[in-house]
Amino acid sequence: MGSSKAFLCACEDVTAEDVQRAFARGYRDLESVKRYTGMGTGPCQGKTCLALAARELLRLGATPGEVAPFTVRPPLHPTSLGALASLDPEALPLEGGAPVPLAPAVTPRPSMPLPARAKVVIIGGGIMGVGLAYNLCRRGITDVVLLERAYVNAGASGRNGGGVRAQWTTPTMIRLARRSLEIGEHFASEMGINVWFRRGGYLFLAPTREHVERIEKNAVLHARHGVRTRILTPAEALEVVPQLDSSRFLAASWNPDDAVVFPWPFAWGYASRAEALGAKVVTFTRVTGFESTGKRITAVVTDRGRIACETVVNACGAWSREVAALAGVKLPNEPERHEILVTEPQKPWLQPLVSVLGSGLYFSQSGRGEIVGGLGDPDEPSGLDTRSTLRFLARFSRAITAAVPITAGLQVMRQWAGCYDVTPDNNPILGAAGHDNFLQLSGFVGHGFMMAPAVTELMAGWMAGDPPDEIFQRFTLDRFARGDVKGEDFIIG
Ligand SMILES: Cc1cc2nc3c(=O)[nH]c(=O)nc-3n(C[C@H](O)[C@H](O)[C@H](O)COP(=O)(O)OP(=O)(O)OC[C@H]3O[C@@H](n4cnc5c(N)ncnc54)[C@H](O)[C@@H]3O)c2cc1C
Repeated sequence: MGSSKAFLCACEDVTAEDVQRAFARGYRDLESVKRYTGMGTGPCQGKTCLALAARELLRLGATPGEVAPFTVRPPLHPTSLGALASLDPEALPLEGGAPVPLAPAVTPRPSMPLPARAKVVIIGGGIMGVGLAYNLCRRGITDVVLLERAYVNAGASGRNGGGVRAQWTTPTMIRLARRSLEIGEHFASEMGINVWFRRGGYLFLAPTREHVERIEKNAVLHARHGVRTRILTPAEALEVVPQLDSSRFLAASWNPDDAVVFPWPFAWGYASRAEALGAKVVTFTRVTGFESTGKRITAVVTDRGRIACETVVNACGAWSREVAALAGVKLPNEPERHEILVTEPQKPWLQPLVSVLGSGLYFSQSGRGEIVGGLGDPDEPSGLDTRSTLRFLARFSRAITAAVPITAGLQVMRQWAGCYDVTPDNNPILGAAGHDNFLQLSGFVGHGFMMAPAVTELMAGWMAGDPPDEIFQRFTLDRFARGDVKGEDFIIG
């Protein structure tokens, strides 16, 4: 490559120097470099940058296997929401196309040798794992090794909508979300990375009388806990989003302080600050088992050897159940695919994240101008499936063009899927399970991204000796056996 300032990815302003920096940090394969730099996520769909970046990585010393092209995201050609809305979703199968591998076929070189021991081993390089690593370091526990079988952000943390809202239905969730919003607000300046944090608010549209009653009840709770939620008439909602079809809802719940972030740099920020403080983030290293004596785990076994430890944290999101099973612990978590898409960028016109209650539809406009949105499918079976479907495109397009008719002309650029990590009561599973030193940090359904800043801060404090927050007493695994379960039901997506 000639000048290091030369653009490799013109859509996302990624230079050769950015790729060189990523390579120097251990990101050697195209999928990791894409996650680290953002290259290939713009309107050209990677058509120009892929070959240039591959050539640069080979020049820097990557192996041909490591530069295998990253996963092509459908649709292959930008297609308008209006055209997709004309498809009949019921005639389209739930199954997707070819399975999407999480990591390249040839495992890239791990980021570092496997340490022989660590005080704390965290399994999972999603937002929970990297957030906990950072917060442990801040609390003086720096002998931390994080094991990730692929790259940071390979799971749901690299695939979500980035929404952060305080509009919840319990004081606990409101408190956690408000703390995450506070952390999110200062994240860029404190961690030195732009996370595109934007307080555009969340606007929940209530299409039925029953939904209106719910948001009215929630708003009373919100007021008691310092959240500025207001119930709006359809005419008032049009002042927030003039493009809405106001005949489709009876009222709306509006909190101007809710926010949206770009998820990828949030996790990179945590990971790189944790490393700067002494933690080791070891990628492309899969946990395959555990060694234990009595009620304690003594070592974590990986596909690259074993690592002795005092405490293990299972932060594997939708894979937490299978990782816990390796230690003989049965978690009730179920993975559930959720699909999401992004359109071509537009000038800013949409301030809040909008969600239509009852339908699962949500969408927001990113700092880069794209509309990012998803919609859960009530017929989705449980399973670790990250394939994309035409059925989702049709369902989403119908729902969003009904809510905001002017979106019909917008072109869909890419779609992808991730898995929610669902528990029977939609609340997380925290604390020791099965072994005294085997801590769970999972079960965050469709809201783990927004919970991570607050929850990992509290968990690190607790591990460092602070008195346990009530969440570590309420959200234990044994609550299910005790039948002490009060479900959270204000879930979107
Ligand atoms: C489409 C979609 C939209 C969403 N929208 C939002 C939103 O707007 N706001 C919000 O707050 N949340 C949202 N979520 C939910 C949020 O993304 C998750 O709750 C959160 O990212 C979970 O983080 P995690 O660290 O627990 O798991 P993950 O990010 O899934 O990380 C788990 C990691 O563990 C690794 N792993 C698995 N097995 C092993 C092993 N054996 N050894 C080593 N590593 C292993 C995986 O590779 C993975 O990287 C959304 C999720 C999806 C799918």
